[in-house]
Amino acid sequence: MTAKTTVKPTARLIEVFSAIQGEGLNVGTRQIFIRFALCDLRCHFCDSAHTWNAPSTCKIERTPGLRDFEEHSNPIPLPILLEWVERQNQPSIHDSISLTGGEPLLHAPFLELFLPQVRSLTNLPIYLETGGHRPEQLAMILPYLDSVGMDLKLPSVSGESYWQEHAQCLKLSYDSHLNVFVKIIISQQTDPTELERSALLVAAVSPDIPVFLQPVTPLPVSEKSTAKTILAPTPDQVLHWQAFMKRWLKRVLVVPQTHKMLNQL
Ligand code: SF4
Repeated sequence: MTAKTTVKPTARLIEVFSAIQGEGLNVGTRQIFIRFALCDLRCHFCDSAHTWNAPSTCKIERTPGLRDFEEHSNPIPLPILLEWVERQNQPSIHDSISLTGGEPLLHAPFLELFLPQVRSLTNLPIYLETGGHRPEQLAMILPYLDSVGMDLKLPSVSGESYWQEHAQCLKLSYDSHLNVFVKIIISQQTDPTELERSALLVAAVSPDIPVFLQPVTPLPVSEKSTAKTILAPTPDQVLHWQAFMKRWLKRVLVVPQTHKMLNQL
């Protein structure tokens, strides 16, 4: 007789820390960030290329906001991650937990087990940041989410093209009554026909869904993952594109990455 083996759920992490959210609808709020390793996209503007592959170790902040990181070996067992989040969750500091990456949905089977437990342990709302290209994995964890920040990748800026998957992910989130918003990175090279297509895609789900146009933050040469030069849009382009998208959508907001200005992680 062969012994039955059970696989213990584990995650490959980059870091866990407490910081101020710098993007989208939750901007300015305090979150416990769980940054997952691995991403299957290769956006030209990626500022998290260090997450594309799983490192052998991850960095865990001991005290919220003190940057007193410990190093631990990957992968991390589920109960250990629960302990770390509980340690971060000191009374009244945090507004929510942010699942970020990389692409957190590549850990969907782990999240399906982890999220109900972390929710009952902390009582904090759960916010997912996703590239919006994995509807099957999103469907697996929808019941445990409160809000979703979904990227809509413009081929002219990101080099990636996932229109159908974006539409599916947005509809899934909206139909589940989650607090959902869309983030679109724009640069001088943005093709306006892609902005029109994006506006129509969002409006087809609901014209009430907020869309954040986020001017690209040009990366220092040392952090660039591609030889392509990406320039921030001009003030005129930003004004024009916001007005253009408002033909179809009620809320189009232009907000840059504020955490970089605040020197957050
Ligand atoms: S989805 Fe995010 S982490 Fe992945 S390549 Fe694009 S910007 Fe980078």
